[in-house]
Amino acid sequence: CGIVGYVGPAQPSSRPLEVALGGLARLEYRGYDSAGVALVTPDGLAAAKKAGRLANLREALAANPLPDATAAIGHTRWATHGAPTDANAHPHLSEDGRLAVIHNGIIENFAPLRTELRQAGVTFASETDTEVVAHLLARAYDEARDLTAAMLAVTRRLEGAFTLLAVHADEPGTVVGARLNSPLVVGLGEGENFLGSDVSAFIAHTKEALELGQDQVVTITADSVTVVDGDGNPAEGRRYTVDWDADA
Ligand code: GLU
Repeated sequence: CGIVGYVGPAQPSSRPLEVALGGLARLEYRGYDSAGVALVTPDGLAAAKKAGRLANLREALAANPLPDATAAIGHTRWATHGAPTDANAHPHLSEDGRLAVIHNGIIENFAPLRTELRQAGVTFASETDTEVVAHLLARAYDEARDLTAAMLAVTRRLEGAFTLLAVHADEPGTVVGARLNSPLVVGLGEGENFLGSDVSAFIAHTKEALELGQDQVVTITADSVTVVDGDGNPAEGRRYTVDWDADA
């Protein structure tokens, strides 16, 4: 339902988690039943997710603090496939735990994809439509060794209306996003960049925004934003300055 992404300096810090949780709090108005985050840390991915209010996630994080990170993704879920449980909350991870994905919307053709993956030996950890994307991306990443290329390969196989964000432990300074009939906005910072399902995800940090077009894939690092179309050709978003107050 709500999506936040963040990449900051190469030196790991607590800021990626703070930005993700702050963004999720600002997205609460959209309504949700679960919340979760994944961080890219020097020792791989670290994730936490909880059914219920954001306060539940904060309690879990207080009990089991996550390490400093270079990038983060955060999600509030409004369940469409699978009950609102901890296991069905996002992020969803690949079997090796090195890739995480969050998702707004619905993957209409998840059932045949799940069957295909099960036949290939994949064990599913949730009942969501989303989890197929984690496993497909992990497989595509093993071939391409590039998260943007993996996202392009996988989105071609997906039907429905969705926004996806993914991180991989081997690309600690990157978050990749994709948008198909569902919103995704980039927040342009200085030495850091943001992604959000709407600008409230990052308005506390920057008012400079880039709205993506349909069927585009975006790759953010601390100091770059690269947009391509569904075929991987260079594309451009629509640049604008958000004209409302961060405290509004
Ligand atoms: N369809 C996904 C799920 O049920 C994502 C729902 C959402 O947009 O939050 O987990």
